[in-house]
Amino acid sequence: MDKQKERRNFNGHLVLVPCPLEGHMNPMLHLAKLLHSKGFLITIICTHLNPSPNPSHYPEFSFEFLDGISPAELGYDSFGGDVMLYLLVLNNKCKTPFRKCLLKLQKNVGSFGPVSCVVYDAVMYFSAVIADEVEIPRIVLRTSSATTFLALSLDLNQRDLTDQEHHPEQSLSEFPLLRAKDMPVFNMSDEKAAEEVLTRIHYGTSTASAVIWNSLHCLEQEMFNKAQERIVSPIYPICPSLHYNNKQKNSSFKSSYTEDESCISWLDTQTPNSVIYVSIGSIVRIAKSELLEMAWGLANSDQPFLWVVRPGLVDGSNGLELLPNGFMEITRKWGKVVQWAPQKRVLAHKSVGGFWTHNGWNSSIESVYEGVPMICWPRIGDQRVNARIVGHVWKVGIEMEENLERWKVESAIRRLMESEEGVEIRKTAVELKEKVRVSLGKGGSSWEFLGKLVDFIKFL
Ligand code: UDP
Repeated sequence: MDKQKERRNFNGHLVLVPCPLEGHMNPMLHLAKLLHSKGFLITIICTHLNPSPNPSHYPEFSFEFLDGISPAELGYDSFGGDVMLYLLVLNNKCKTPFRKCLLKLQKNVGSFGPVSCVVYDAVMYFSAVIADEVEIPRIVLRTSSATTFLALSLDLNQRDLTDQEHHPEQSLSEFPLLRAKDMPVFNMSDEKAAEEVLTRIHYGTSTASAVIWNSLHCLEQEMFNKAQERIVSPIYPICPSLHYNNKQKNSSFKSSYTEDESCISWLDTQTPNSVIYVSIGSIVRIAKSELLEMAWGLANSDQPFLWVVRPGLVDGSNGLELLPNGFMEITRKWGKVVQWAPQKRVLAHKSVGGFWTHNGWNSSIESVYEGVPMICWPRIGDQRVNARIVGHVWKVGIEMEENLERWKVESAIRRLMESEEGVEIRKTAVELKEKVRVSLGKGGSSWEFLGKLVDFIKFL
């Protein structure tokens, strides 16, 4: 249908602002698809940074590129792994071009008509400032858990990092689910910058017309009740990133990495539930010594493994060149190393029996969606909170100490893949998978919330 004709039957024109980080792009693009299926016209705001959506895969959407955001200056890799600094600079740079873009759209220059609402990733908080200025309602998409939102809402005293050092196991009095060591931490060169970013994200969320969550009621029901006490606007736990077929090739956005398809045919040759998949996401950086402990731990475990060693995982290296001498030869028969995997398809593969993860929120819920139990090795940001949920609330994973040593790796892998405890965890993971699938199926809570969101936007 051409865009002019489509406009006659539409529910409104939504401007969506995704964040150019791997774990953020997918939830927003899937939300775009869901909202389009409900009769909204969609304009996606992009930068020329990676990852960015591939417009040719979305003929149904319109795309606007923000001027003056160059990959040379604003690529994530230029920030030495400091996510907060990256977000601060990105938000500062995007503000002016976004104002220009939104004013242009608002003047009805495009074929989609005036903008009904801006839907933005919570970390792209410049969108809130500009939407308020231009007087367009705004809805925020939170790509992390409700539990993380609550952890970050604690007052600063409760977030005091000294406790993490001195009493790491102590539960927080205001939030007993979390121990001091579970609180979010950020690699930051500038504490003030981090505080500013967190404050602005929080302000944007608590003042939005509504909050969409990349999570499900069945995963965090109690936390959503608590979050609703702090946010006056309605909350919609839709979990867009778990909608749509996980087995499809993920070519919908231009990633910073190329998926290595050979791991799927390698998995085809392995025994069901035997392989431990190892990936610590797109942002975390580790020391060379940690890479070596990972390598020898995997080698000594004698368990088939598929390991993602992405370029930049160890600062300034492609990762592979730092693997210990002889590692590839020794493990060739039962291990495979790739630089980037089609993760959703890997987790869906019958040979995968465990996931050693950093507990990024997407990785955690993708694993739950496939019923794959986890070894949790959180590092920065919200990952510690997520690991606590995985191990303590959902009971679908085991914790591994942050201070990595090869024998700890070996023992965690054996615990998950070979012990009685591992069998119990796997059973719980399968039960949780069923609950998640029910929530995402027709008539499930995710669809109910989507229906309510559609009505809400129509009457904004
Ligand atoms: N991912 C992938 N291939 C890989 C590693 C990760 O496709 O080899 C995807 C993964 O499926 C997830 C995203 O990258 O959707 C990572 O997001 P997450 O929130 O787990 O972690 P982050 O990268 O933000 O730390």
